[in-house]
Amino acid sequence: MKVCIDPGHGGSDPGACGNGLKEKDITLVVAVKVRDYLTAAGCEVIMTRETDNDVGYAGDSAAEELQDRCDISNNFGADVFVSIHCNSFGDPGPSGTETIYSDGSVRGERLANCIQTQLVGLGGLVNRGLKVTPLYVTKHTDAPAVLTELAFISNPDDAEKLADQDWQDKFARAIARGVTDYDT
Ligand SMILES: [Zn+2]
Repeated sequence: MKVCIDPGHGGSDPGACGNGLKEKDITLVVAVKVRDYLTAAGCEVIMTRETDNDVGYAGDSAAEELQDRCDISNNFGADVFVSIHCNSFGDPGPSGTETIYSDGSVRGERLANCIQTQLVGLGGLVNRGLKVTPLYVTKHTDAPAVLTELAFISNPDDAEKLADQDWQDKFARAIARGVTDYDT
């Protein structure tokens, strides 16, 4: 199976910031671990970025930046596309994990369900469930695509997990298991 892993944001775009963390750093650390788990499981993996860089160029439009990420997946011929993000809210209350897919994508929904089930199975995360939202990267990728919001960077308890090496590993293992569950 060919898998494209997309660490959200990067370079000039830090993503959400909170509790001393930048989303772009967390998504990259977790994505690298997902790649390693999936590679060990026999998958062929490409990442949209492997360092703290813009995938397009600094200051490009959001659509250009996101299309460049889709192009990497589409040119690779990925069977599965997983974008990794952290959620954020204006007040510190909301917490938990959710996985998003595009409306009408049966395979996207199944992939999202596999990943969300594994994330919730870790224990300790509020289950916000599956969400249907027309996101750029899930709409413009040829492969079944999901975007997972690991946890809230704006919530102190979630942020503690996002910053924790053991939890980063657990997040990654859950996503990798979700992808391999989808394939069976
Ligand atoms: Zn994000």
